[in-house]
Amino acid sequence: MRCPGCGGADTRVLDSRLGDGGECVRRRRSCRECDMRFTTFEHVARSLPRVVKANGGREKFSEEKLRLGMLRALEKRPIESEAVEGALARILRRFTLGEREVAARDIGEAVMEELSALDEVAYVRFASVYRKFQDIDAFRSEVEKLEGEKGKTRRPRKARLAMFRGR
Ligand SMILES: [Zn+2]
Repeated sequence: MRCPGCGGADTRVLDSRLGDGGECVRRRRSCRECDMRFTTFEHVARSLPRVVKANGGREKFSEEKLRLGMLRALEKRPIESEAVEGALARILRRFTLGEREVAARDIGEAVMEELSALDEVAYVRFASVYRKFQDIDAFRSEVEKLEGEKGKTRRPRKARLAMFRGR
């Protein structure tokens, strides 16, 4: 592990212990060249599902995006990094098992659940931003739907089609 201070490759582990409920390993390290001390967190490598957005679009599950979203909500709050990493690990573990695709909404709900247990302020911050995005996503997909219909001749409604078939 390179030193984040000087980039030197010669760092040593001072202390190694399990983080938040055994979800991660936390290591205190020290650089032999510049003496800087830093911490690393070790997690199990996972294969994560694809994320299905509200408008139906798919994207890669981004652990980094998830972490940034949580850290943004937790900015300046008195919560230890270790607790945040533990929450993040629980969310990741939840989505690692089984499903090949997962709704963005479910990830958002899981984050809100963890944040509400960690810190009320962070929870409210995240929820307000997240809900706004959900609305924007829903709005965008409505617009796309309308744009898709533009120029086409009007098709009969599904209900009418059903009547046609005698159902
Ligand atoms: Zn260094």
